[in-house]
Amino acid sequence: MTRRVLILGAGVTGLAAADRLLELGGCDVTVVEAEPTVGGLAATVVRDGIATDLGPHRLHSEIAEVQTLLPQLLGDRLLRVRRSSRIYLDGKWLTYPLRAGEVLRVLGVGTVARLAAAMVGAKAGRALGKMGVQPASFADAMRAAFGGAAYRKVIEPYARKVWRAEPASLSAEIARVRLPDQSLGAAFGRALRLGRRRTAGPVREFGYVRGGIGQLGEILADRIRSRGGKILLNSRATALRAANAQPAATHPPPLQVVVQQGTGQTVLDADTVISTIPLPQLGAMLPGGDEHVRSAFAKLEYLSIILVVLVAAKERLGPDHWLYFPQTPPLATRACEPKNFDASLAPAGRTALCCEITARCDEPLWAMDDGQIAAQIERELAATGLFEPRDIVSRFVLRRNWAYPIYTLGYEKSLAAVWPFLSTFPNLVTTGRQGLFNHNNIDHALVMGRCAAEAVAASTAPARQWYASLDRFSTFRIWD
Ligand SMILES: Cc1cc2nc3c(=O)[nH]c(=O)nc-3n(C[C@H](O)[C@H](O)[C@H](O)COP(=O)(O)OP(=O)(O)OC[C@H]3O[C@@H](n4cnc5c(N)ncnc54)[C@H](O)[C@@H]3O)c2cc1C
Repeated sequence: MTRRVLILGAGVTGLAAADRLLELGGCDVTVVEAEPTVGGLAATVVRDGIATDLGPHRLHSEIAEVQTLLPQLLGDRLLRVRRSSRIYLDGKWLTYPLRAGEVLRVLGVGTVARLAAAMVGAKAGRALGKMGVQPASFADAMRAAFGGAAYRKVIEPYARKVWRAEPASLSAEIARVRLPDQSLGAAFGRALRLGRRRTAGPVREFGYVRGGIGQLGEILADRIRSRGGKILLNSRATALRAANAQPAATHPPPLQVVVQQGTGQTVLDADTVISTIPLPQLGAMLPGGDEHVRSAFAKLEYLSIILVVLVAAKERLGPDHWLYFPQTPPLATRACEPKNFDASLAPAGRTALCCEITARCDEPLWAMDDGQIAAQIERELAATGLFEPRDIVSRFVLRRNWAYPIYTLGYEKSLAAVWPFLSTFPNLVTTGRQGLFNHNNIDHALVMGRCAAEAVAASTAPARQWYASLDRFSTFRIWD
């Protein structure tokens, strides 16, 4: 009998799961997506002829499976781009990755000497680390790695701005995932020629998708539909329960998912569900769970993102892909010029700057009016010399909740409390950035989706085995 598999969410993870299941065969696959388009966070929005990703999405992977898969999926849409980036520090622009001569010239001998002395001190800190003294927080990890001066100058203000939290309240796991050797602090080390061992630098060349990252989701969606899979857009899952049916000897009872479509509701039956929606949302949809489990779901917090897109009446604002702002002002953490990723993203004589701001959805920053926030960003970035105020002819603001899982101290305990509860639903697995609370990239999302599909194809009750093997996803690293 063909098994009915329902996938919640049509981001990269959900689409990759559907694609892999249809490749393996034997399943009837339906994807339900709350938004009107596929792609999730990896979508491209087009307004007034200007296309922009929800924050720039470049492709880079160290995973062999993905290195083979992406060229197959994207064909001649896969572009190779040579990276150009700058960082704005103490009111000056520096090339990123940093160059020793430029750092000395721009920041001055006094500042550089203080950074260098602190980094030499930090090497003693690292030696202690090797003796078994593990850093508890992100602040400890970064201070031990780069010393107090670089920490205070670059890392602390940037972390406060990006994570909207004190670095001492964040887990050292962020340092591991974001690969500190690639970070701004390490870049200082390399620029100052500290240490004999050469560390790998940031990614200097990367892949991009002609037409914007959203094309990846569209291509996956086309493959899914052409093999008979269904994708229901504007369809939000709101509840999930076991059907009132006798389990067969080898199958658990089917699941029922309540889906809101506009003002109407429908109930979809499934033999197995793969969820890629945020873990707290999934928790709220499920019956059962004691106080301890409910509070664990609630403690898993996510950051939202606000994107201010400034449209300029110019061919280009500069040569750069990413511009980094570790200090405040400006309010933006990062900005990118999409036309430098792919010239087709804006028409001739027009370009755009997509500026990123992270926020918690319960703080005043998130409540700020779109017009007010765009005006502030425009003013602050003009002051950095990126453009003249008269260059900007229009602007728009995009917002997304559930952008980044926040690794606060102790988040692992919350996850450890929710997995045993979720494994009591034998034919439900959760996966992906949102579903496993895993701060990751597109290559990881592809792998997480495909692994979930393989687990589901191999068993009618995959949950127990799935939750016992999640460690394989905790080794993912983001290469900046
Ligand atoms: C600003 C930013 C920049 C990034 N840059 C890069 C980059 O340069 N390179 C890179 O590789 N990665 C990058 N990433 C990471 C990348 O976007 C993610 O790893 C990937 O898109 C995660 O895919 P996902 O499917 O797991 O999650 P999502 O994309 O979040 O997909 C989840 C889907 O579930 C849907 N959903 C939620 N609730 C429901 C519900 N109740 N019912 C139905 N559907 C629901 C959502 O609408 C969404 O479509 C970036 C992320 C951000 C935020």
